[in-house]
Amino acid sequence: MPTDPALPDGRPAAEVLAELRALRRADAPTRGGRTFAYVYDAGLDGLDELAAEAYTAFATVNGLDPTVFPSVARLENDVVGAVAALLGTPGAQGTFTSGGTESILLAVKAARDHARTVRGITAPRLVLPSTAHAAFHKAAAYLGVEPVVVPVDPVTFRADAAAMAAALTDRTALVVASAPSYAHGVIDPVAEIAAAASARGVLCHVDACIGGWILPYLRRAGREVAPFDLSVPGVTSLSVDLHKYAYADKGASVVLYRDAELRRHQYFAHAGWPGYPVVNPTVQGTKSGGLLAQAWAVLQHVGEEGYTALAGRVAEASDRLLAGLRSLDGVRVLGDPAAGLVAFTVAGEDTGAPTGAGEDTGAPDLSLLLHLADEMRELGWYLQPQLSFDGLPPNLHLTLTPATVGQVDALLGDLAAALAKARSLEPVTVDPALAAFAAGLDPQTLGPDEVAAVLAFAGLGEGAGLPGRMAPVLVLLDALPGPLKERLLSEFIGSVFRI
Ligand SMILES: *Cc1c(COP(=O)(O)O)cnc(C)c1O
Repeated sequence: MPTDPALPDGRPAAEVLAELRALRRADAPTRGGRTFAYVYDAGLDGLDELAAEAYTAFATVNGLDPTVFPSVARLENDVVGAVAALLGTPGAQGTFTSGGTESILLAVKAARDHARTVRGITAPRLVLPSTAHAAFHKAAAYLGVEPVVVPVDPVTFRADAAAMAAALTDRTALVVASAPSYAHGVIDPVAEIAAAASARGVLCHVDACIGGWILPYLRRAGREVAPFDLSVPGVTSLSVDLHKYAYADKGASVVLYRDAELRRHQYFAHAGWPGYPVVNPTVQGTKSGGLLAQAWAVLQHVGEEGYTALAGRVAEASDRLLAGLRSLDGVRVLGDPAAGLVAFTVAGEDTGAPTGAGEDTGAPDLSLLLHLADEMRELGWYLQPQLSFDGLPPNLHLTLTPATVGQVDALLGDLAAALAKARSLEPVTVDPALAAFAAGLDPQTLGPDEVAAVLAFAGLGEGAGLPGRMAPVLVLLDALPGPLKERLLSEFIGSVFRI
């Protein structure tokens, strides 16, 4: 039977590159400080070009085998060595990975296998504050570890150390603290959590994916930062993403362990097949040397002084943004943001007076918040909506980078205007008929027709494309129970990647 060819006949390189460049036009800008999530812009001239050249120089190198490509061992020892010097203790060992998710996956795997070997735990548990990154739940799901979620303090959004300690049992393989959490940017009480873990012989991972490369430099720039790294007694592993505040291109993170004994449990070795003897430190087998090389180049180029100056710029952006947000009517900043991450919510009623730091003027208004995000998007800004969870309010999240410093005043000006506009709009509500229909659905047994009905209701039906305004979709999502939310998210993304 004749079929369509898989590919065109071969197109000129210039034409292919032109199409790729054109595709980028619909994307949020990754440089220039107007996209307040997902992207990290140091604002340094030439840094992107350096990373690209370094990547290109190593793109064809296979990081799978450092005995054939010794450059890989040299670069990885340099990069992990820098992380260990900044965040480790003598004897610390680690691995370069593709990102925070992989670092966390590996830390949980190492803890699971360590618990089995050393403590005989066959049904391991992972104790987490409710603000821990979703990657821990992913790791738990992938690795057959049971997550035990401990609510955080509803005022500070920090982990509740006493409640975490109380959740530790003879089955706990690993306990987690964030420095800081992604959602609210607050640092958990690492020392207390690690001490409680240590007292019970439990391993403790600090998720410094986002904070690890900025907190030490904020300290160097004169800010006060509580101890959070491997030097804290009881902390046994730590993750830090170089593709965040180290400004490397995406695909760069490090997981660090107290010692070689612990790191050993992360490795996978296999000699029971007729192919080459396998030892994989990470999830991937074949991997490009390019990502490691670009991370190495960026670290070497920016250097200690550079990172200190960049951290200072982020702190300046954060100070100015926080002051501006706190002067906006009805806006409440959540918690005490430590390092360039800010989350705020908005109250429904117009109180007519500035709210002042931390003062609660009224209930958070989800519809208003999402209208605000949509209005800001129309003005060319991306702020990240985060839904309500377990009594914690819905909010908008901003990740600040050095490139955002010059944008703070413009952002605050547009925010005030967008907030006024959002208040004038009709609130988005969930159709009660849809809510009732959705409440009766069982996510386990949901059929394609029911899924299609809910997605169509939300304006995400077949062929509808991505909606211009996200508020109606997110209001609906917020109202649904967790498992149904997760099923619909999967269906929705499945419809985006439609083949
Ligand atoms: C980004 C982040 C992660 C996950 O990292 P990815 O690089 O997106 O895989 C984990 N924890 C925290 C605190 C993060 O900010």
